[in-house]
Amino acid sequence: MKYSIVLPVYNEEQNLPHLYKRVSSVMEKLNENYEVIFVNDGSFDRTPSILKELHEKNKKVKVINFSRNFGHQIAVTAGMANSSGDYLAILDGDLQDPPEILPDFFDKAKEGFDVVYAVRKKRKENFLKRSAYSLFYKILHSIADIDIPLDSGDFCVMSSRVVKAINSFPERNRFVRGFRSWVGFRQVGVEYERDKRFSGESKYGLRKMFKLAFDGIFSFSFVPLQVMFYLGSVSLFFSILGSLWAIYMRFFTTAYSRVPGFATTIILIMFVGGLQLFSMGVMGEYLRRVYDEVKQRPQYIIESKIGF
Ligand code: UDP
Ligand code: MG
Repeated sequence: MKYSIVLPVYNEEQNLPHLYKRVSSVMEKLNENYEVIFVNDGSFDRTPSILKELHEKNKKVKVINFSRNFGHQIAVTAGMANSSGDYLAILDGDLQDPPEILPDFFDKAKEGFDVVYAVRKKRKENFLKRSAYSLFYKILHSIADIDIPLDSGDFCVMSSRVVKAINSFPERNRFVRGFRSWVGFRQVGVEYERDKRFSGESKYGLRKMFKLAFDGIFSFSFVPLQVMFYLGSVSLFFSILGSLWAIYMRFFTTAYSRVPGFATTIILIMFVGGLQLFSMGVMGEYLRRVYDEVKQRPQYIIESKIGF
């Protein structure tokens, strides 16, 4: 198998026919063996039946049906694990990533780049989402232990050795674009204009977006823990000074009986209390992930596979 295309889809019934048409016409022109792997992430619209029809029409279409919705990153993971191409491409199922630029990506990969990732030049999304994304990528870029490129999503082409490396990651909290950087080898970014979603609504709600952002930050950085440590140290330092001052006032001066400092006390309690809760929250994020990994549950359950 030369090329594998992985397409995670969740309730994308209106996009599927166009998606299939555009992807297959691009791939047919390359005149090489290829497979298109759709990962149906627990859709409850007509997605599964359309995928079945597509497979009956074209045996190069393969389908993995999940038993429920496991999330986009897990769907990508399953597609990668079941692929067999020398080169693998990941695209969104809503045509935001134009398949027409894949041949350029494959050419770059054949030049010797193990990862050719797409960099979003312009986003045709609303201002709020754009700013949130750009802030997230900047934070992640500055605190992650690895060099995760700015404004690159999952849209990419990878060589089979990178795919194999990522498949060997046992993690359950998956941030595929982070794994991709972590693996190393020669990588190159190619700019592209990210289109608008072809049809339907975004399947990434606020919760899913936060989960992705947190997985990126907490899986690739210990900076939040270190910040906690520094803030804790600073507040400890000042509380020692404050205590010494209080002891001095109590035992060595007569002014103490006037009991000023009510505001100071309240502020200190609130500050230290807030700091402690915040710190515990950060620790909780790591702990939650440790617990999740220790449980060793499978990453996903496949209901059925078609065409493999
Ligand atoms: N998706 C998925 N499972 C989910 C959410 C999304 O497989 O739980 C798929 C979705 O069908 C699409 C891709 O992931 O093909 C990207 O999602 P979407 O376009 O909704 O995200 P956005 O582009 O708005 O960030
Ligand atoms: Mg989209």
